[in-house]
Amino acid sequence: MPRPIQALIHTGALRHNLARARAAAPDAKVWAVVKANAYGHGIERVYEGLRGADGFALLDLGEAERVRALGWRGPILLLEGVFDPRDLELCSRLGLWHVVHETRQIDWLAMHKTHAPHRVFLKMNSGMNRLGFRPEAFRAAWARLDALPQVEEITLITHFSDADGPRGIASQLALFNATTQDLPGERSLANSAATLRHMGAQGRTSSDAEGLRSDWVRPGIAVYGSAPDYPEHDAAHWDLHPTMTLRSRIIGVQQLQAGDTVGYGSAFTAQQPMRVGVVACGYADGYMRVAPTGTPVLVDGVRTRLVGRVSMDMLTVDLEPVRQAGLAADVGSEVTLWGQAGNGAVLDIDEVARAAGTLSYELMCALALRVPVEVTD
Ligand SMILES: *Cc1c(COP(=O)(O)O)cnc(C)c1O
Repeated sequence: MPRPIQALIHTGALRHNLARARAAAPDAKVWAVVKANAYGHGIERVYEGLRGADGFALLDLGEAERVRALGWRGPILLLEGVFDPRDLELCSRLGLWHVVHETRQIDWLAMHKTHAPHRVFLKMNSGMNRLGFRPEAFRAAWARLDALPQVEEITLITHFSDADGPRGIASQLALFNATTQDLPGERSLANSAATLRHMGAQGRTSSDAEGLRSDWVRPGIAVYGSAPDYPEHDAAHWDLHPTMTLRSRIIGVQQLQAGDTVGYGSAFTAQQPMRVGVVACGYADGYMRVAPTGTPVLVDGVRTRLVGRVSMDMLTVDLEPVRQAGLAADVGSEVTLWGQAGNGAVLDIDEVARAAGTLSYELMCALALRVPVEVTD
């Protein structure tokens, strides 16, 4: 029998969350962002749940080929554009749309031989200072692209640094709008946080969105059921459902006496007699080694906590709250590290991530290859 650890991908939740993003921006087309192997879920595994999107956005050319291999004939966007002039051949062959954020990418396009002109997304650096042309260089880049026979259509794109927080999007949006005012073409501005918080037909949290036009929104994390602005809001606030569950089982139980310690470094000491369960899940499965004592876990759907240090293949949980709930947790009991328990209880991945000082994004992406994955509804 294999180790009892398993990840579940919930197709119905993906479909539901995509619908939530659509409802927040009802006039926009929706890119389902599937970069990083669909945030660790697996592109092939999310395809059924996300095929109702208007397009797929990602950044690895191999991943673009995989989406085409699934039979997707609609738009695919390379969020970082091409990395090498030869990549443009693949763009022509597979009909990939690509971001242009750098002068060299325009040079390469100008030398590219293609029958079918490309759809490009010209990126402005409106303050994130990651990718894109600064506002003062943006219009010249646009004019150069517009003059190229290799270019069919130019969409204007930028990315917000603070759509999830108190700084908001107002100053970046004002700069973007001032620079692009009279330029034609569609716009793509909003990630999950901007879509839900600043476009959201319901639950909008700011008036920053005055002038926020995003013909294509780009939700990633919301589609995977996590709140982009946790802990200000949680997934339930945005009516998002978990799309990834990480489950395992208890493979050993120890009865501790007061003063006994648990695991490497004796990082946890029992204050009174207590039972702990040893779970077949460790950092080699993608669970965070830095998760401290107290990180929430569900045993048989009952909320309890991690105790002691996470090791490579195992971690330890407090079984006292489970006993207090009237359940006799033992070897074989189900443990939910995040997502949906068998009894329907949900452990927010956002809460687990926060306990470990990180974000749900990182947990999802870190799901290890050795964990068997099942797609369910
Ligand atoms: C990853 C990414 C997104 C999606 O961001 P979320 O916070 O997951 O919604 C959108 N746009 C760009 C350019 C990205 O790189």
